[in-house]
Amino acid sequence: MNKQEIPYKIYLEEQEMPKQWYNVRGDMKKKPAPLLNPGTLQPLKQEDLEGIFCSELCKQELDDTTRFFDIPEEIRSFYKMYRPSPLVRAYCLEEKLGTPAHIYYKFEGNNTSGSHKLNSAIAQAYYAKKQGLKGVTTETGAGQWGTALSMACSYFDLDCQVYMVKVSYEQKPFRREVMRTYGATVTPSPSMNTEVGRKINAEFPGTNGSLGCAISEAVEAATKQEGYRYVLGSVLSQVLLHQSVIGLETKAALDKYGIKADMIIGCAGGGSNLGGLIAPFAGEILRGEADYDIIAVEPASCPSLTRGKYAYDFCDTGKVCPLAKMYTLGSGFMPSPNHAGGLRYHGMSSIVSELYDQKILRAVSAEQTEVFKAATQFARTEGILPAPESSHAIKVAIDEALKCKETGEAKNIVFGLTGTGYFDMVAYAKYNDGEMTDYIPSDADLEKSFSQMPVVNL
Ligand SMILES: *Cc1c(COP(=O)(O)O)cnc(C)c1O
Repeated sequence: MNKQEIPYKIYLEEQEMPKQWYNVRGDMKKKPAPLLNPGTLQPLKQEDLEGIFCSELCKQELDDTTRFFDIPEEIRSFYKMYRPSPLVRAYCLEEKLGTPAHIYYKFEGNNTSGSHKLNSAIAQAYYAKKQGLKGVTTETGAGQWGTALSMACSYFDLDCQVYMVKVSYEQKPFRREVMRTYGATVTPSPSMNTEVGRKINAEFPGTNGSLGCAISEAVEAATKQEGYRYVLGSVLSQVLLHQSVIGLETKAALDKYGIKADMIIGCAGGGSNLGGLIAPFAGEILRGEADYDIIAVEPASCPSLTRGKYAYDFCDTGKVCPLAKMYTLGSGFMPSPNHAGGLRYHGMSSIVSELYDQKILRAVSAEQTEVFKAATQFARTEGILPAPESSHAIKVAIDEALKCKETGEAKNIVFGLTGTGYFDMVAYAKYNDGEMTDYIPSDADLEKSFSQMPVVNL
C-alpha cells in the first residue's frame, strides 16, 4: 500500500472491537505446564484456587483448550470508554531515523491509569462483583496495576485494598493519591498488617520491598477476610486472556489496511501485554498459517527469559501462591531498587515461557540508560512521553528500524506502547541529570537465587 494511504492513526470502529478474547493455549499442541498446589506439589484444581480467586477467573485460568471466551457486555461497555485504542504509524520517528521500515505502535496509554492494565482490571472486578464479593486485594509495583484496579473497583462499587511495594509508595506519591481518589486503601509493603509482612520485615530489615513480597501480603489479606478475593495484574493466564484484546485489535487494524507485520515487539515484565499483543499472531504461527519475528524485551537488571531457568518456582517471595513452571530468576531474587518499576518481576507468564521455549518468540535484554535514551528520542519525535517499561520495546523497535536502514528492507515493525510515563519523572530526572546507572546481576547473584528454588519432580 502507498505510504500516504495509511492514516497516521488507524482507529477501528466501535463495532469492530473484539467480542471475544482469544486463549492462545487452545492452539498450543504442547501446553504450558499446570500450576501446582504449594502444599502438595500436585496440579491445582478449581477447588484449590477458589479460596484465592473468583470462580469464573479460576475457570479461565485452568482452561487450556477453549480458544475463545465471550467478553461480557458490561465489560465491553467499559472498554468503549477508551477502546478501540489506536494503532499509530510512527511517521515522524521513521523520518528522523531515515529508515525504510514502517513502524507502528499500539497505544494503550489512553486512560487515566496510563497503561494496558485496565483491560484486565475491569474484567477481574466484573467477575468479583458478579460473584457477590465485597472487595479484592492486590499488590502493585510501579503503581499502574493498583491504579487500574482502583478505577475498575470504583466502577463496580467494590472495596479495593492495595499493597504497594515500599520503594514505589515513597517514590510515587501521586500514583498513591490517584488510587485513593478512586477509593482504594493503599498500604506500603512489606507492612506489619500481615503475618508474612512481619516475617519479611524481620528477615530483611529496612527492605524496599518487592513485587513478590507484596503479592504474599495481598494473598494473605484476601484469604483472611470474608467476602474478599485476590486479583493479580500480570503473569496469570487469565490476565493474558483479557489482554488478548490488544493483539486482536492490532491484527484487525493491520488487516483493515492489508498490512502484514514482519516483527512484533513487546516489553516483558510478567508477560501480560506481550502475551496479549502477540496472541493472535502466535496463534497463526502455531497453526502454520503465517510467520512473524516476535521479540520480547526485558530489562538487563531482571532478565528472566534471557538468563533465567525454565523450571517450577514460587510466584511470590512468601511462597503462599501456587507454583508455576516458567522462566524465573528464583522467587528470592531481589532486583536492584534503582531500576524503574514495572518490569521487576522474578518470573514470567507460563504461556510466554512455553512459547519462548518452543521458539515461537525470541528475547533480548536492554540496559536502563539505553532504554531512557530511546524513550527521550521517542518523546521528542512522536509527542508521547512513554512509560519506562514501554521504552524497552521502543529501544528494540528503533534498533531494528536502523538495521533496516543498513539492509534497505522496508519491514513492518509493530510494537506495543503499553503506557505513559508521567509518574516516572524521578527516573527521567536521574537520566536527565546523567545519574542513571545500569545494574546487571552477576552470575553469582543469580546462582545464589537459583539455589533456593524448589525441587519439583513431576
Ligand atoms: C505493568 C506494565 C508493564 C509490564 O507488565 P506486563 O505484564 O509484562 O505487561 C509494561 N508496561 C506498562 C506501562 C506497565 O504498566
